[in-house]
Amino acid sequence: VSGVGYYFYNQQCCEKDLESAERTFIAIKPDGVQRKLIGEIVARFEKKGLKLVGCKLIQPSRKLAEKHYAEHKGKPFYEGLLDFITSGPVFAMVWEGKEVVSTARSLIGLTDPKKSPMNTIRGDFGIDVGRNIIHGSDSVESAQREIGLWFSKNELTRSSVTIEKWIYE
Ligand code: ADP
Repeated sequence: VSGVGYYFYNQQCCEKDLESAERTFIAIKPDGVQRKLIGEIVARFEKKGLKLVGCKLIQPSRKLAEKHYAEHKGKPFYEGLLDFITSGPVFAMVWEGKEVVSTARSLIGLTDPKKSPMNTIRGDFGIDVGRNIIHGSDSVESAQREIGLWFSKNELTRSSVTIEKWIYE
């Protein structure tokens, strides 16, 4: 009997998750890829309890980079930023979890690595703002836009790993 109860508990948990799961777009920039930080960064997201639902190594086109960073068009660092982000492979990911947008931003740290606290990704691994290793969406709306830019629907899976009951109460 308890086995049946457990089964239904799990079902409810998963259905609730399907409706409400928040997703964010994370990209390890060319500097992070070249510096072999993919494993370290993915490990931090996994250990936090977040769920990876898609990833790929991709060298973005100028067009994709322009769309991704459209809000910065006209700023002094814009052209350099486009040159940099298109200069090599980027490890693009979609992560899922409760309030994952803000949780991921906490793991990442501040835009300027020098001002970013230790134990954040940028604080631990970066120095210059133009080489800050990783991108993370800054809002749920940005996340939806960016996921749509970088991934097609069939590249995003529902992970078969069900860790929710060990993360959420
Ligand atoms: P974040 O990536 O923390 O959301 P922004 O959206 O403000 O930061 O900026 C996007 C990216 O543009 C930053 O991650 C950084 O790579 C680059 N950038 C921002 N400000 C500067 C700057 N003053 N000089 C050079 N690059 C910058």
